[in-house]
Amino acid sequence: MVSADRRITVTKPSLPPMEEYVKEIEGIWANKWLTNMGPKHLELEEKLKEYLDVENISLFVNGHAALENAIAAFDFERGSEVITTPFTFPSTTHAIVRNNLVPVFCDIKKDDYTIDESKIEPLITDKTCAIIPVHVYGNICNVEEIERIAKKHNLKVIYDSAHAFGERYKGVGVGQFGDASMFSFHATKVFNTIEGGCITTKDAGLIKRLSMLKNFGIEGPETIDYIGGNAKMNEFSAAMGICNLRHVEDNIRERKAITERYIERLGHIKGIHFNKTRDDQTYNYAYMPVLFDPAESGTTRDRVFERLQEENIGSRKYFYPLVSDYGCYKNDYDSKDTPVAKYVSDNILTIPIYPGLSIADVDDICDVIEEEIKHANR
Ligand SMILES: *Cc1c(COP(=O)(O)O)cnc(C)c1O
Repeated sequence: MVSADRRITVTKPSLPPMEEYVKEIEGIWANKWLTNMGPKHLELEEKLKEYLDVENISLFVNGHAALENAIAAFDFERGSEVITTPFTFPSTTHAIVRNNLVPVFCDIKKDDYTIDESKIEPLITDKTCAIIPVHVYGNICNVEEIERIAKKHNLKVIYDSAHAFGERYKGVGVGQFGDASMFSFHATKVFNTIEGGCITTKDAGLIKRLSMLKNFGIEGPETIDYIGGNAKMNEFSAAMGICNLRHVEDNIRERKAITERYIERLGHIKGIHFNKTRDDQTYNYAYMPVLFDPAESGTTRDRVFERLQEENIGSRKYFYPLVSDYGCYKNDYDSKDTPVAKYVSDNILTIPIYPGLSIADVDDICDVIEEEIKHANR
């Protein structure tokens, strides 16, 4: 059992050895170039293009700013509708609303929690301008069907790929799908630049617009044609990214071993469900979501959450509540309209996973969960 003085957190940011980072930033003191697309920024862009297998990239100060600016770059008519899902981080929906667009919530699938592509078309109206699906937990959406629907109805597709860093679908970088994809490099993600993010796209013109939108609309020293803000990544963040990228493969291998142990220990327990990943995708093991079906397991997600807390083990009700139940949206939406998302949100828990989490700790966490279910069924 877990001892009283030990605390296991749900996640832990990945950091390179300190000496490695210090060496990486030495050049910044020599050239005094701290931000504004300096050499570290350019180097990270090149390295990420290769790692993510994408043609074009634009780095940002964080993933949310990247998404908000990408939506802005399409210049959709004010009040247009965007089809998205409520089973996500607030960022996805807020980025839509902050662009004066209207989110329309589509339900998700029960096996992988991504947008249910069969429910998209009935939601399309003459005001629909885009679809913003989420590769939630790194589970890749049905990109082919989404593309078919988008082409048929002349809609843009912008993926929230915040969870899908480095993944491939049928051998292709996941950032190549849709009109644009956003990745987050926040401290808690699989790959971090402390804070950071990017947009990837096949459209070089979009990259040009983004480079202006993230730098006050400045096209040249005396030419300002866009009403842009400031959302550039600085050199210290880029340097952290260059270092972390060297270790990301090892980190993902560690995450995989942890995931496999959880599945080995908990997979046979009635009422416990893991999210399904596609056979034709690579997976980054960013999260360890576990769904506790109350009818089958005899216990509830909230009860497991409390039991883990009593043992000093962190877990997160990720994503609960549903976005459509947030105070800022609940007057305009009814989460009963997306029953699968509601069910998943009410019953899912993400449990600890990060490089450095020992298999002994994983076993302790599994013991607590196993005991709780045994106790509930006694
Ligand atoms: C982390 C995250 C974001 C926002 O990224 P930041 O880099 O934290 O701004 C957006 N969407 C999802 C699904 C996320 O998990």
